[in-house]
Amino acid sequence: MAIAQEILQISNWQPEEKHLQQFQQLYTQIILKNKSSNLTGITEPQDFLEKHIWDAIAGISPLEILGKEGEMKTAIDIGTGGGFPGIPIAIACPNYQITLLDSVRKKMLLLDEIITALNLQNVKTLIGRAEEIGQDISQRESYDLVSIRAVASPSVCAEYALPLLKIGGIAILYRGQWQEEETENLTPVVTKLGGQIKSIASFQTPLTNSIRHCIYLEKKVPTLPQYPRRVGIPTKHPL
Ligand code: SAM
Repeated sequence: MAIAQEILQISNWQPEEKHLQQFQQLYTQIILKNKSSNLTGITEPQDFLEKHIWDAIAGISPLEILGKEGEMKTAIDIGTGGGFPGIPIAIACPNYQITLLDSVRKKMLLLDEIITALNLQNVKTLIGRAEEIGQDISQRESYDLVSIRAVASPSVCAEYALPLLKIGGIAILYRGQWQEEETENLTPVVTKLGGQIKSIASFQTPLTNSIRHCIYLEKKVPTLPQYPRRVGIPTKHPL
């Protein structure tokens, strides 16, 4: 746990003992559930710490929402898989009510059991496709924060994420390597969806010194009603 505490000291946030215990419990639960379903391929303790916990927390660190309490805000983690980065964000940001979205029912039922085992009051699951949830009036433009990691190409992620954001909300695209050319390609797509690229942060992971980037999109105006397009169209014909 001492190693974990050192590794997870990110910018102005210091994990407390209770956070470390919850991360440990999360690891135990994921390994347990992984026996019956492939929630994640990252199962070595140090890998889990760096690639799931550290990574999730690093991505939100520039937003200065870590550890804040008070007025509740809403977030959705699109294509959450085994709950990443959504569950670590929920643990570190108690004033965010986080919805974990994935189209695979079996994974979401296992996440429900993990949420109960960890007694996480600010997390719930939602089974569905991002293309349909983005057109659901009860969900559309209702989130302050969207996170999306390892789901699709940047422009597809933008098409999934921006319709779900409130005006002024932020989407974080968690990426690995990132080239200037990708920013040039993504910029007109984000504009078309009612947003703009607010900033790009690069991080070096603490154990394997790998490079990560997070792309922060800000919602500026309502997204046109035709976005997101029908299921499968964004990946088949990216904007
Ligand atoms: N975000 C997790 C992570 O970084 O560990 C899981 C990434 S996994 C490679 C991609 C996940 O996205 C899968 O669980 C898949 O079911 C989900 N997914 C892909 N496209 C989706 C869509 N259009 N709507 C909802 N979930 C989707």
